[in-house]
This record gives sequence, C-alpha cells and structure tokens, in this order.
Amino acid sequence: MKPRLQTLETRSKSKPRGIYPKGFSGIKMKIVVLPVGEVDRRFLNEIQRGLSEVFPRSVCSISGYVLSLSSEAYSPSRRQYKSDIILSEILDLTKRTKGEADRLYRVLGVTEVDLYVPSMNFIFGQAQCPGKAALISLHRLRQEFYGEPSDDKLFYERAVKEAVHEIGHSLGLEHCPNPLCAMHFSLHIGMTDRKHQKFCEKCGAKLSLLC
Ligand SMILES: [Zn+2]
Ligand SMILES: [Zn+2]
Repeated sequence: MKPRLQTLETRSKSKPRGIYPKGFSGIKMKIVVLPVGEVDRRFLNEIQRGLSEVFPRSVCSISGYVLSLSSEAYSPSRRQYKSDIILSEILDLTKRTKGEADRLYRVLGVTEVDLYVPSMNFIFGQAQCPGKAALISLHRLRQEFYGEPSDDKLFYERAVKEAVHEIGHSLGLEHCPNPLCAMHFSLHIGMTDRKHQKFCEKCGAKLSLLC
C-alpha cells in the first residue's frame, strides 16, 4: 500500500518532479564540498548527503583541506565578505588540482560568513555560470538568524537547496520562473523554503542538453 501512495504523491502536479527526460539518467559530476573558514563537519555531511540524493550518478566528497577566509574579501563597513573574491579563490584552488581537466568537476565552497555582492544587501550563494566553482553561505539559513527557535532539519534542507541551486548555475542553468524549482532565485528565506531541492522538468531537460 505504502509505495503506491508515495508514487501518487510524487506525481502530484503541484510539485516539480525533478526527473530528467527519457534517455538521460543524470549527471556524472565529481563534486567536492570545500569548507571556507571553519564549518562544522556535520553540516558538510548533510550537504554531501543531499547532493548525492539530487545527483545520484555523481560522486560527492568532502575536502580535507580548509580554504582560509581572506582578509581581502572582508568589508569592515558592511561586516560581510565579498563573494566574488572568495569564488575566484575557489577557482584558483580547482586549477591546482587534478579535477581541472575534468569537464564535470565542481568545487562547492561552504562558509559560515555572510556574503555580498556590491549590488545587493546579501546573497545566499554564487557560482560561475557555467564553471567549476560555486559557493554558499550558511549565515542566513538558520532559524535563529530570524529570531526563531533552532530547527536543524529546516537548516539542512535550506543548505541543500542553496547547494543544488549553485551547482545548477555551475552547469549553465539560469534562474527559473517556476517558484518551486531549485533554480528559482531566492530574494529571502521564504522563497528558499517554498522551492524544492530538485530541478523542475524544464530545467532537467536543459541539463540533459548542457551536460
Ligand atoms: Zn541563482
Ligand atoms: Zn526550473
């Protein structure tokens, strides 16, 4: 009984199914999750687990190397870190690894600090589109940031959604108008909560052509 119910649920029209078109079984990436500054190993494990679920044919590992937060990226007036400086440092790092030659090698930086780009108050993450480097911040993903009681499950879900979103950019996907798709742009945390961890069918179809 139960499996059948689950099948019906995944066919519900209100949710993007996140399935790829026929003949495309998913992307075979090598994703390395890289801590940028001090990041709790449990969080990195949850992001690794989530990415492995969304990209089941990809291999996802956690870097033993920690990229230090550079003082160059820090803005004392904003008390935030400039995202593109960290992103270019991640890219420099990937150029010094074996993954450089691998077309589907990706490095996802994960940081606790608050990120910005000059045109915005903050950003949840950034990536080359397309490219090998991506970055997410955990800073605004905790309920405590919004004055709410701590909720680990929600925190991990948000982190995985932002990770999938930035990996999607790194594969060449642009923002998607579907508010439930992982590639929808999040202006605030409510928009992150609304969307799903997976891509909509249109983005899944685009990926099958891009990869
Ligand atoms: Zn985006
Ligand atoms: Zn989409």
